[in-house]
Amino acid sequence: MRKKIPGTHLEVENIFCIGRNYSEHIKELKNAVPTEPVVFIKPTSSIIYSGDKLALPSQSARVDHEVEIVVALAKGGKNLSEAQAIESIAGIGVGVDFTARDLQDKAKEKGLPWSVCKGFDGFAAISSFVKAPKDAEALRNLHFTLEVNGEQRQVGNSADMLNSIPALICYLSTVYTLSPGDLIFTGTPQGVAPLKKGDHILSKLEDWTELKIEVV
Ligand code: ZN
Repeated sequence: MRKKIPGTHLEVENIFCIGRNYSEHIKELKNAVPTEPVVFIKPTSSIIYSGDKLALPSQSARVDHEVEIVVALAKGGKNLSEAQAIESIAGIGVGVDFTARDLQDKAKEKGLPWSVCKGFDGFAAISSFVKAPKDAEALRNLHFTLEVNGEQRQVGNSADMLNSIPALICYLSTVYTLSPGDLIFTGTPQGVAPLKKGDHILSKLEDWTELKIEVV
């Protein structure tokens, strides 16, 4: 079934996710700084919305939160320029890229893909989307947070991204033909941590939009 993108008239097409886009988060997971963006894809079945519950999958003993700025595209195309990339943005929101860290560690060890550890039902939570700033500089100063049970766990600013939002869209468009309804999870800052049943997650992007998820 097609999933809607709240705050827009769009439905979710592809879900692109960027790994290792903030240096402090790269350090906390002891990863190497990539020379090109690290890209993975989630299934559309993983989408949930503010007010929904995340059911922890029985296959994992450690599910982490990763708060991220999420971009929704209104236009697609291939090999976009920076101006076209900015023009292609339908809206901006906040999301949580839930990750089964124990399964991801095993996959990394064996050089296997992340489709399972990143792809369970509910593992792509998105807020409602709002209009995005229309210039590269403003897209470079977006503040976002995640708290669990009222305690702040993650604070990020797009100023600290290794690859900016327009740069990520340009890069993705060199590989994929982008489409209206594509979502891009742009990477998480430091502070990722495990969740337990009963946790209440609240994420905010500026004072523009927020996302509430209960873990069950
Ligand atoms: Zn992530």
